[in-house]
Amino acid sequence: MEESVSTQAGRAPVRRVVIAGGGTAGWMAAAALSRTLGKGLEIHLVESEQIGTVGVGEATIPTLVTFHRLLGISEQEFMTAAQGTIKLGISFEGWRERDHRYIHSFGTTGQDHWSAGFQHFWLRGRERGLAEGYEAYCLESRAAEQERFAHLPRNGINYAYHMDAAGYARFLRTFAEGYGVKRIEGKIARVRTDPDSGDIASLVLEDGSELAGDLFLDCTGFRALLIGQALRVGFEDWSHWLFNDSAYAAQTTAVRDAVPYTRAIAGEAGWQWRIPLQHRVGNGIVYSSQYMDQTQALEAFTSSLEGELVAQPWHLRFRPGRRIRCWHRNCVALGLAGSFIEPLESTTIHLIQRGIMHLLRCFPAVVAQEDIDAYNRQVDAEVEHVRDFVVMHFHLTERRDTPYWDACRLMEIPASLRQRIELFRETGKVFHVPGELFGENSWIQVMLGQGVMPHRHHPAADLMGDEELSRFLGDIRAGVDRTLAQLPAHRAYLDTYCPAP
Ligand code: FAD
Repeated sequence: MEESVSTQAGRAPVRRVVIAGGGTAGWMAAAALSRTLGKGLEIHLVESEQIGTVGVGEATIPTLVTFHRLLGISEQEFMTAAQGTIKLGISFEGWRERDHRYIHSFGTTGQDHWSAGFQHFWLRGRERGLAEGYEAYCLESRAAEQERFAHLPRNGINYAYHMDAAGYARFLRTFAEGYGVKRIEGKIARVRTDPDSGDIASLVLEDGSELAGDLFLDCTGFRALLIGQALRVGFEDWSHWLFNDSAYAAQTTAVRDAVPYTRAIAGEAGWQWRIPLQHRVGNGIVYSSQYMDQTQALEAFTSSLEGELVAQPWHLRFRPGRRIRCWHRNCVALGLAGSFIEPLESTTIHLIQRGIMHLLRCFPAVVAQEDIDAYNRQVDAEVEHVRDFVVMHFHLTERRDTPYWDACRLMEIPASLRQRIELFRETGKVFHVPGELFGENSWIQVMLGQGVMPHRHHPAADLMGDEELSRFLGDIRAGVDRTLAQLPAHRAYLDTYCPAP
């Protein structure tokens, strides 16, 4: 049963913030809060080495670059500490059909005309036999393919990182402690709530000590000790759209130079990731326990690994969905305690970051229902958008080789997603709603990659004659070629930019 929503009456001004959990969510929150509001707050973070962290979360998206810039984090120091490599996108292998491959890159494809998006001109060019494959017009897709990278002047190339999650948490810990965050090693045994207000009053640790606060951030991962177990805020299950609920992860030695993209390789009842770091490769299989048992999953996983195992594969279970309210009373859930959409498209760290940014904007002098409602509205909309985008990859498969892919293809998808796909299929149009993570480019790249070819294009594209259209497309392609020729190999760039210590 959920508790009713309280009012702000009787609450104290927010002076003491307690962060429960020191995984990526806990330390990102500690770093951002201490950097921006640290002078006016006392921030404590409690974590337990005995429990540890989830230990995966190695692929990111470009918003992390912005997060680091806002915090004044040196990219070179971060990349060295996290053994980072560059990620220009994801290579989807076997998603549409077994032998098919496409790249969802972080780049913009072609150039929009003021009247219509580039895809309309490309569609027209394709119809007239004048266009190459869609990826040919995107710098990031081609650079990923050719394994090249360099920082280019502003807006030059859009990228993110692959990183060692444990190294990242250690790096953020040093950063946050430098801004005054106090870390406490200990296991939370109990969450004490105020009998009158229902708010969280303190965390009681196993050694009997007590940590009181005005605002609590639940970063305890899937356990959700505060928001779920103590405040009993319910969880909305999305497993009818996202079938995967289990994973194995393992690290191996590298057998070749790191590529600047994540590999997402579709399997019989799920998919596998390959995330190249400077010193090793992160690997994992994500699968549905309804369609594959644990022994089969381990066999499928280990038999496909390259390189030597650095540690034995470890197993994880998860439940896709979101907390009904991520901020309830004086507790905000970040990271896995708040929501989890499966790891395809690497969005969890991004959602943590968005949660932190919204919290900073709504940061209360005194915890008030207006702030809580505004926060929840924003994170709800963002997580639903991400869910739709991820569900699309599974649903738009043409695979018919296993019951898992049949179920993905035939499932009833959210109405919001169905409308987007239908609009694109009929008209070639995608409309980006402000605040949504994935822009038009991402939707188009994935829908085309998954085999949705629009029936029509914008009439503006018909106004170009063949010669003009051919020149327009050719100039864009030549521009991409010129930039590409200036880029060094990804490996060579890393060796000089952030050499291994
Ligand atoms: P955790 O890492 O679980 O941290 C929880 C913290 O709470 C720990 O410090 C723990 O010690 C502490 N804690 C728990 N209970 C107690 C207690 N009783 N007392 C004291 N401390 C306690 N995200 C991405 O962005 N990219 C990816 O590529 C990606 N891949 C993933 C693959 C898989 C299979 C899964 C399951 C997730 C993946 N994620 C990915 C998500 C990513 O793992 C999380 O975003 C990230 O690790 C944040 O986790 P967290 O901090 O919320 O929880």
